[in-house]
Order: sequence, then structure tokens, then C-alpha cells
Amino acid sequence: MRLIVNNVSRNTCYLNSNMYFRLSGKRHKAKYPKVMKNMKRNLYVLLFASIVVSSSCRKDDPTFNAINPPVVVNPVTPPVTSADSNLVMGNPSNATDNAANYSNYLIKEGYYSLSYNRDRGIPNWVSWHVVSSDSGNTPRQDDFRSNPRLPSGWYRVDNLSYSSSGFDRGHMCPSGDRTVSVPANSSTFLMTNMVPQAPYNNQVTWAGLENYTRSLMSQGKELYVISGAYGEGGSAVSSGITNTIDNSRVTVPAKLWKVIVVLNNGSDDLNRVTTTTRVITIVLPNINTVNADWKTYRVSVDFLEQETGYDLLSNVPVNIQSIIEAQVDTL
Ligand code: MN
Ligand code: MN
Repeated sequence: MRLIVNNVSRNTCYLNSNMYFRLSGKRHKAKYPKVMKNMKRNLYVLLFASIVVSSSCRKDDPTFNAINPPVVVNPVTPPVTSADSNLVMGNPSNATDNAANYSNYLIKEGYYSLSYNRDRGIPNWVSWHVVSSDSGNTPRQDDFRSNPRLPSGWYRVDNLSYSSSGFDRGHMCPSGDRTVSVPANSSTFLMTNMVPQAPYNNQVTWAGLENYTRSLMSQGKELYVISGAYGEGGSAVSSGITNTIDNSRVTVPAKLWKVIVVLNNGSDDLNRVTTTTRVITIVLPNINTVNADWKTYRVSVDFLEQETGYDLLSNVPVNIQSIIEAQVDTL
């Protein structure tokens, strides 16, 4: 082993001194054009090779999937609003729409806003406002699809990315909160609004809280909801942990969470949040053996903030945050 190492280092030394000699010695001028010519040729070879490699990589792009051609869907037209009603309570992680911010990338979908994590292939959080006027008769569109709004070059999780994983495509902003129009409902089926969620967790416990949230609207309430996922490793069956799916491109989160600010219907919402405003917060494990009752997973916002490092409800005055964030809902 040592002999080989010595040979390698000696060869390296020889090459280095030879190059140095050629470039710095008397023969510098004579050899210069040849060196440049070789460099130029090598650059062309490299360029050609990288074109071949990058074009062969395009099969990873879901739009180049020959077996499963993409379903063409009319682009969702977001509603035109002056301010982002979905972020009234704040931007928990200070997400920005700069593509360099790939682990905390802000997407304003119109019907909800979110922070996306490129390398996890899932949102960090999704935030939305829901009032009774968001409810209509639009059926579930079920048009799960990749989000064309993601920066070019980013992997786009698509409708088949969770196939055979055992995990549900778990909505953050629920389809049931956006039934007033086809574009509104369709927007919730973008894969940037999904996390791999254990089926029982999604269909029973999580769905139970979604239904409860909507029942509050029939009691004259409007709601601000922020929902997300953190950690790594979940279980779609009774045992065993899965860390990633889709060839490691999608992280299975360990925990799912949701914060719901409950207000009476009205305007100027942020200023109506007081020290007695009801806030429901849950954190639950992404496993299939969760309790059916979401109420058993209630925690304080402060606990969630410690877990995630986010500042929830950051637009609420600090003196009010400190009180409502310490409470655990008991209703
Ligand atoms: Mn769901
Ligand atoms: Mn906070």
C-alpha cells in the first residue's frame, strides 16, 4: 500500500514540476499555444459530455415520462388580492421567493401560501384563511400534479411520486376548505401542498380535525390555519420506519402539526386577536397507529415553536402572543 502511495505522489510531483517547468521556463513561449490548444480541445470535450449527461437526465423530469404522459390541466388562476390574506398572522420562517433560498422558498398560490423545501420535496408549512364564503359545491378535483411555479431545475414531485409507498398524498390546505370554484379546489391538489402521510393518520385523525375546523364556520367563525411537517421518518403500516420515498427525493416527515386561530366573523382580523382568542395547536406523529381523536394531540404554540424554531403568529403583538401561545386548548 505504501509503495503505491509513494508512486502516486512521486508521479504527481513529476507532473507538477514538469508543468511548472513548461509554463515558467524558457520553453514557455514555444509550448504555450499547444497547451492552449489542448485546453481548448478538452473544454469542448467537457462541454459535449455535459450536454449528453444533462439531456439524458431529462428523463427524471416528470414531463418526459413516456410511460405515464402528464395530464394536461388548465393552469390555476389565483384570485387577485391586494394583500396576502393567507399570511395575515405572519410568515413563520421568514420564507422568501428567492430560488437561492431552496430550503425555505415562499410560494404564494393565491388560495394559500407556503414555504417549500426543495431537498425534502415537501412544504415546511402552508398557511391559509378560511371563511364560510370559501365553501361551495365544487367536487374534489383529484387532479394531483406537480407545481409549475417551482424554479426551473428543481425536482418536481408529481402525481405518481408517492405511488406504492404506502403513504397518502396528505393535503396541508384541505380540498374541503376550497370548494367555492374549480380553480380554488384544483389548487389544493398541487403536490407542493402535500406530505407523505400515514393513511390512518390522514383519513381519521387529521380528517377529524379538518371536519371540526369546518364545523366552526357554521358557528359564525372564520379561521387562520397554518399547517406543516418536520423531522424525518414515518410509518405507513403498524411498524417499521420509512425516511424517504420517490428514490430519496421526498422526505417522510416524523411529525405533522397545525395551528388554528379562531375568530368570530368580521374584518380587520389581526387587530381582533386578543389574549382570550382561541388557538388550537396539535402535533402528532406520522404513524398509522395514532389515536383517532385529534384532541389527544393538543399542545401549546410555544411547544411547537421550540420544536421547529419558527415564530408562529409573529404578526400578533408580542404581549398577546406570549399569552395565547402558552395555552393548550381544552374545549
Ligand atoms: Mn388529508
Ligand atoms: Mn410566535
